[in-house]
Amino acid sequence: MTLDSGEVVEGDAVVIAMGPWSILASLWLKLPAVYGYKGHSIVFETAQDIAPEALFLEYREAGGEVLTPELFVRADGTTWVCAISSTGSLPVDPADVVPDDGAHARLEAMVRDIAPVLAAMPIRARQACFRPVTDDGLPLIGAVPGADGVYVATGHSVWGMLNAPATGEAMAELILDGAAHHVDLTPFAPSRLRPLDPARLRRA
Ligand SMILES: Cc1cc2nc3c(=O)[nH]c(=O)nc-3n(C[C@H](O)[C@H](O)[C@H](O)COP(=O)(O)OP(=O)(O)OC[C@H]3O[C@@H](n4cnc5c(N)ncnc54)[C@H](O)[C@@H]3O)c2cc1C
Repeated sequence: MTLDSGEVVEGDAVVIAMGPWSILASLWLKLPAVYGYKGHSIVFETAQDIAPEALFLEYREAGGEVLTPELFVRADGTTWVCAISSTGSLPVDPADVVPDDGAHARLEAMVRDIAPVLAAMPIRARQACFRPVTDDGLPLIGAVPGADGVYVATGHSVWGMLNAPATGEAMAELILDGAAHHVDLTPFAPSRLRPLDPARLRRA
């Protein structure tokens, strides 16, 4: 495989696992579309002052929009809060991901309302990221049609962390043994979806 830099990487198998940026591989492979669904989050420094529990809530903003925030108290002394998703366009370079205007102010207002003690704690980071989603909502895990030795593993939407170990194990088995032994990959076969027409890819 030859990189843009000209460097040649030797290998028996290539796994496309660039999250939403996997859509760029549609330029040279028969790959179904992977879209980016943006989310915003804040990391608070809470030390051990908050009970180690996760909250999944529904919250109605003053303007009427209903958000579904998640709050995770983490073992490293931080608490992570996310909500507010949007369908803004995906920048080609992952380093160029920026939050939507006002998204973090809305998040902070929400936290002040639902957890004033948390809202008073220092903020370590205000972040945005893109989840990878497919046309039918299921991940793409398996061999890429029409290209020997090429595989894809992404498209897990909001559950990519939870499912990463199972996906990684299944991919390793598929590549090394020709089949996954613990997970039925049939529902996730890339061939179930029509490949994206690369002509539909455009820069915003
Ligand atoms: C706010 C929010 C909350 C979430 N909460 C949860 C949760 O509670 N539980 C859960 O299971 N999941 C959660 N997720 C989803 C989870 O984060 C994703 O499903 C998962 O990260 C997707 O993994 P991935 O490897 O497919 O893509 P990514 O994590 O996006 O990884 C792709 C990587 O490829 C890199 N890349 C891109 N282009 C190139 C290139 N050309 N060359 C080399 N590298 C490249 C990117 O920089 C990136 O590091 C959440 C996501 C968000 C945004």
